[in-house]
Amino acid sequence: MTPIDTIIAPATASGEAALAVIRVSGPLVPELVEAIFGKAPLPRQVRLGRYLSTDGRTLDTLIYTVYEEGKSYSGDWLLELTPHGNPWLVRKILDDLLGRGCRLAEAGEFTRRAFLNGKLDLSQAEAVVQVIQARSERALEAARRQLSGSVGRTVDSLVDRLLVVTAMLEAYIDFPEEDLPPEDQKGPAQALSSLVTDMESLIATRQYASLLHDGVKCVILGEPNVGKSSLLNALTGEDRVIVSAEPGTTRDYVEERIHIGPYLLRIIDTAGLHEAASSLEEEGIHRSLEQIESADLLLVVLDSTRPAPTLPDPVVRLLNERNTVVVVNKVDLAEGKDLAAFAADCPHVPISAAKQTGLNDLREVIRRSLEEGLVIPDESAVIVSARHAEALAQAKSLLQESREKLREGLPAELVASDLHAAIESMGLITGKIDNESILDRLFNRFCIGK
Ligand code: GDP
Ligand code: ZN
Repeated sequence: MTPIDTIIAPATASGEAALAVIRVSGPLVPELVEAIFGKAPLPRQVRLGRYLSTDGRTLDTLIYTVYEEGKSYSGDWLLELTPHGNPWLVRKILDDLLGRGCRLAEAGEFTRRAFLNGKLDLSQAEAVVQVIQARSERALEAARRQLSGSVGRTVDSLVDRLLVVTAMLEAYIDFPEEDLPPEDQKGPAQALSSLVTDMESLIATRQYASLLHDGVKCVILGEPNVGKSSLLNALTGEDRVIVSAEPGTTRDYVEERIHIGPYLLRIIDTAGLHEAASSLEEEGIHRSLEQIESADLLLVVLDSTRPAPTLPDPVVRLLNERNTVVVVNKVDLAEGKDLAAFAADCPHVPISAAKQTGLNDLREVIRRSLEEGLVIPDESAVIVSARHAEALAQAKSLLQESREKLREGLPAELVASDLHAAIESMGLITGKIDNESILDRLFNRFCIGK
């Protein structure tokens, strides 16, 4: 066995704060605790101690916790120091630890050790990053679910089913004189079809995850001067977008990020769709259409004092009750028009962007339509990583190929080799499957009488 280094790193962001956390992981931990605090390490107990540096000075009085090998985050001996959050002090402690034979950890090295020590599977290790980077509550939830191992478990169960099919086919490989009789093809063919379906729905969750991570794309559209920019300002609570009484002032589009309930929204204010005639606007209109077509949610703003607009046909075709909210603005002005017939299937919300009324109702309606449009079952795994989506897509197309080969009556051996490739591809997700464990699992589960 190669000796492993003892690695150190600040676990909190640098800068002044009440406290900082320094992590030390590796075999030196027990003797470091003895040397620094003059006490034998007592695992899993929060201790107060004086940090005595190599040159005999007290650097800080601080809280520390020791975790024994096998029971820590990394799986190795782990020491967590919680000194005061002074960057200079943190630096001094790190220097002292370097002098005692530790080295600075590389990015992700604690988690890497956790993976190597079997504390996490690869999909969980990646989820750690997602948890750290999540920018909304729902995104955090998806990442947490992956961290709890749901992706790994879902992939494992798909692999198990795949192994059953592989075993059925492999039973024939040793008897090349026998063709796979049609009645024996049916089972594997059906199993492969249902696997393909289940993999497709797992792959589809990736879209949900990227919505959560990058934000739901929400486009504000409507005629010039109805109050699109005012609405964006009212929702973001800032005056960043120029509001002007002159029609067509917003030439291009402006993007802001806001939270509505647990969701992150990227709200985009488009140029007025109305002035297609003006050549200056042409480009803006074109870009607006692109934005609108790729939106997850559309906010169509109407001016309550003006007749309902005629929107361009390609836009009208896109509107439906799931992706559109009609915002009837300027209700503070007296002479309101009856606009109920406009996009009558979609929810209508009266507001005044200028007087800031109706905004909470609007947020609630937006939240509800996102909830309805984006539901995922509570227990299900969500693919948050592009790498996982790729590995699954690869496996899925191998399964489709093998199903085809089966249908064409090609030898079981050919079909089985596709299946092995698919299993390997899925193994990339959890990092758990090597040939040995494929064989273990295959033979533990099935007795095929050889
Ligand atoms: P846009 O062209 O659709 O982005 O419209 P703007 O947000 O630039 O607003 C156009 C004009 O309508 C400005 O003079 C705003 O002050 C005014 N406006 C916007 N919202 C309201 C509202 O709720 N009530 C009233 N009375 N005026 C509003
Ligand atoms: Zn505007």
